[in-house]
Amino acid sequence: MTTQGSLKKILVVGGGSAGWMAALLIAHSVKDKGIQVSVIESETVGVIGVGEGSTPVMKRFFDTLDIQESEWMPECNATYKSGIAFDGWSTKSGHDSYFHPFVTMVDNLTLPPFIDNVKARLQGADVCALPNKFFLSAHLAENNLAPIANHNFPFFTTYGYHFDAMLLGKFLRKKALQMGIEHIRAHINNARLDDQGNIAAVVLADGNELAADFFIDCSGFSALLIDKALKTPFVSYADNLLNDSAIAMPTDIGEKIPTLTVSTAMKHGWAWKIPLQNRFGNGYVYSSAFTTADQAEHELREKLGLLESDTQARHLKMKLGRVEKHWNKNCLAVGLSQGFLEPLEATALYLTQMTAAIFCLFLEKGDMSAQAQQIYNQEINDYFDGHRNYIIAHYKTNTRTDTEYWKANAANLHAIPDSLKQIFATWLEGGDLGDEIRRQKIEKYYPVASWYALLAGMGMFPDVERRLGQNTSSQTSPLGDFIPRCALNFRDHRTVLSAQVQTEAHSMAA
Ligand SMILES: Cc1cc2nc3c(=O)[nH]c(=O)nc-3n(C[C@H](O)[C@H](O)[C@H](O)COP(=O)(O)OP(=O)(O)OC[C@H]3O[C@@H](n4cnc5c(N)ncnc54)[C@H](O)[C@@H]3O)c2cc1C
Repeated sequence: MTTQGSLKKILVVGGGSAGWMAALLIAHSVKDKGIQVSVIESETVGVIGVGEGSTPVMKRFFDTLDIQESEWMPECNATYKSGIAFDGWSTKSGHDSYFHPFVTMVDNLTLPPFIDNVKARLQGADVCALPNKFFLSAHLAENNLAPIANHNFPFFTTYGYHFDAMLLGKFLRKKALQMGIEHIRAHINNARLDDQGNIAAVVLADGNELAADFFIDCSGFSALLIDKALKTPFVSYADNLLNDSAIAMPTDIGEKIPTLTVSTAMKHGWAWKIPLQNRFGNGYVYSSAFTTADQAEHELREKLGLLESDTQARHLKMKLGRVEKHWNKNCLAVGLSQGFLEPLEATALYLTQMTAAIFCLFLEKGDMSAQAQQIYNQEINDYFDGHRNYIIAHYKTNTRTDTEYWKANAANLHAIPDSLKQIFATWLEGGDLGDEIRRQKIEKYYPVASWYALLAGMGMFPDVERRLGQNTSSQTSPLGDFIPRCALNFRDHRTVLSAQVQTEAHSMAA
């Protein structure tokens, strides 16, 4: 077993977003300990180049490395993200679009009336229970306001980002080189194991070997070390989550820059729309069991108004699931090599960051024991499964019946892990969802507000359509003008982004 004291060289295999993120976090964590961190990437295998939305936790990554938003955001055409709108996922009256907000401090005031209304609605009362009307983030997104409050606003606001994945990779590489991380360009053919089954070295295409004490596998879906060399068992999510393919295409951005990702239900999956400073990133995540790549591309082009356009579409395959052991022998898998949930909640880089950051805690303590490995692997597995369950909930609660794809998702019996069954049961019984989520200790994956937003947003209310009829009170929030008045403390998104460029120019001149 490797001990921290015997660690002199850590080799990160792969220079995609995961590779550079992991290298930066690890190098930051072991700085001044005389450990060399190197990143090797192939000249012939590119990066996946998609993955343009984040959760709020990404801010912590930049804060840890003391990288200012005014430095990285303009270089990556990045924008702020207040949450995700789900369009067309529910057929329930009044629920054709709902918002999953990133919770803010103001929600401490608005969540209780939302929950009261949800409970009343579950008992048949005709009251508003659409999350859009109760969360500041939803209002900011609806009005293209950046989620950065003026100084006099006393509440903390949470937000994520959108960014150009290729530019982010370049930016992280630049920062890594500045930190003294070594960058090697060479193609790896395979790995050589020692007599205890640890990785001794990677074998390059030119026949040379690169040895290290510890390896970080960030080689993407090819999983060169964790799978091909160490044969770590893989837990597939294919029974739970049916999508296995994606298409990506850009479109022009307008004058206003939105602060939300839009996820629109399609015939055989869903389409993302992500605003960057210079373009929208669009894509269609679908199941190849229900449609062909050509049909899916046609459907996406039609949606984007690109049927006659020569804009290139990128087709991608996805392997959903996770390895059983993210840390196996002297190898840690980070990024797509360790597993992937489909991108519905844009969680991949979040899981990448958590995988690397939690490993750094063990590294800093110098605890590389078998017990540490076991505790660590359980924790990361729980992160993956916890996030998977939240994503499954979107598909199970969809009420579309227009295609076999949507019907199969709603009917999929594999798709209900016990944790989710309990959540659905508590909801339908009108019980306290917060208590149930705390009992299951899953709040760290998704907060209580996210679960309420999802289930209420989907309109998971008994006989709601029949009871509501034509009544309009279901659209009116009891909060009056509280949220719009809070929003007076926020400025136009494009204006805030333009100011960042000036701030950075100013700090470089100083
Ligand atoms: C359709 C889709 C949408 C997504 N959307 C999101 C999103 O909104 N938010 C989010 O957080 N994530 C998203 N993701 C996931 C995100 O794209 C990835 O998590 C992220 O890009 C990290 O990828 P990676 O670095 O693990 O792998 P890659 O980018 O594939 O990098 C692999 C690296 O390994 C190197 N390599 C491979 N083989 C060899 C070899 N033989 N020798 C040497 N080097 C080698 C390559 O050169 C490359 O540098 C999405 C993914 C998909 C498929």
